[in-house]
Amino acid sequence: MYSRQILSRLTTSTIRSRCFASTLVLAEQIEGGKLAPVTLNTLTAAAQLKQDIDCVIFGTEKTNETANELKKFTNCNIKKILLAENAGFKGLLSESVTPILLDIQKKNNYTHILGGSSTFAKGVLPRLAALLDVQPISDITAVIDKSQYSRFIYAGNAILKLKSNDPVQIITVRGTAFEAAKQGGGSGEAQIEKVNSTPNNDLSEFVSRQVQQSERPELASARIIFSGGRALKSKENFKLLYDLADLFPGQATVGASRAAVDAGYCANDLQIGQTGKIVAPDLYVAIGISGAIQHIAGMKDSKVIVAINKDADSPIFAIADYGLTGDLFKVLPELTEKLKKK
Ligand SMILES: Cc1cc2nc3c(=O)[nH]c(=O)nc-3n(C[C@H](O)[C@H](O)[C@H](O)COP(=O)(O)OP(=O)(O)OC[C@H]3O[C@@H](n4cnc5c(N)ncnc54)[C@H](O)[C@@H]3O)c2cc1C
Repeated sequence: MYSRQILSRLTTSTIRSRCFASTLVLAEQIEGGKLAPVTLNTLTAAAQLKQDIDCVIFGTEKTNETANELKKFTNCNIKKILLAENAGFKGLLSESVTPILLDIQKKNNYTHILGGSSTFAKGVLPRLAALLDVQPISDITAVIDKSQYSRFIYAGNAILKLKSNDPVQIITVRGTAFEAAKQGGGSGEAQIEKVNSTPNNDLSEFVSRQVQQSERPELASARIIFSGGRALKSKENFKLLYDLADLFPGQATVGASRAAVDAGYCANDLQIGQTGKIVAPDLYVAIGISGAIQHIAGMKDSKVIVAINKDADSPIFAIADYGLTGDLFKVLPELTEKLKKK
């Protein structure tokens, strides 16, 4: 009979040999086979775990092109890129993707599976965690070690440091909390491998997608955001913000508070905050936004915050680096004219 100590040592070493520590990153493909920027932030978080990284790309086509783009980010020690390409992944429905991901996990026994805090990964990873009977860890802002992470709770008002004892750690990564991975520096020898990926999904069906066409950068990657609130009063007045953004081509875009979105002044995907997007641009200009905690949760990590508000007691001024008390309908046209002259 084994003593309890020997048994426990045996069990640990069996687990170790079965489960060589390695990380899987759920890489995201966007329109035209391009790599989603959030994948690069996720790779940086994954690299901090200091173990080999494999990536998986789901898509209907051009996964090979996305993989070749991904291969350039050699500073992160990517060993293998798995391609799960199938026409059945249209719309990248969680119900189609998760069983394939589960299959990949069963074959490879990753200890960590990471994705960006995007709509896609936020749909897939908690499902995978439930199927693996582990607790998902959402929206981390720091990797402390292989089982401890930081994340915000209470709409960004407290930082939680958590330790997970789960054998597989399923994590989403807040993109704005990690630098994007850089090109070069490593071998660039990541192996590309196709995986068997025929989705079998009779639970849901992709019908259509409405995409806001815009020449401006994505909110998550814009360096400057002009964000409007309820005070803009109409959809037409949002043009004041677009005029400003257009003075910084390729760098600036427009965001909004939930009150502005709910009032129909702009599209839902411009919403910034707890229930919208989390951004951290170099410059965030809050225009006619009061600064409710749910809004601040989405932009307080911006490098420089400017507030324009006619109420000097508005809470937004408490977090603004620069504040201007005034009527936006006077200030914005003046600001636009002055910037045009620069
Ligand atoms: C569960 C939950 C989740 C939420 N999630 C989000 C979220 O993700 N994002 C979000 O933004 N909100 C969210 N909210 C809503 C949030 O609580 C606020 O209601 C919302 O942010 C207010 O938007 P606002 O600042 O545009 O409007 P208001 O609070 O009405 O502020 C308008 C501001 O404009 C100023 N103003 C008025 N006229 C002018 C003028 N002419 N010139 C200059 N300034 C002027 C006023 O002084 C005021 O400060 C959430 C709420 C809940 C309960």
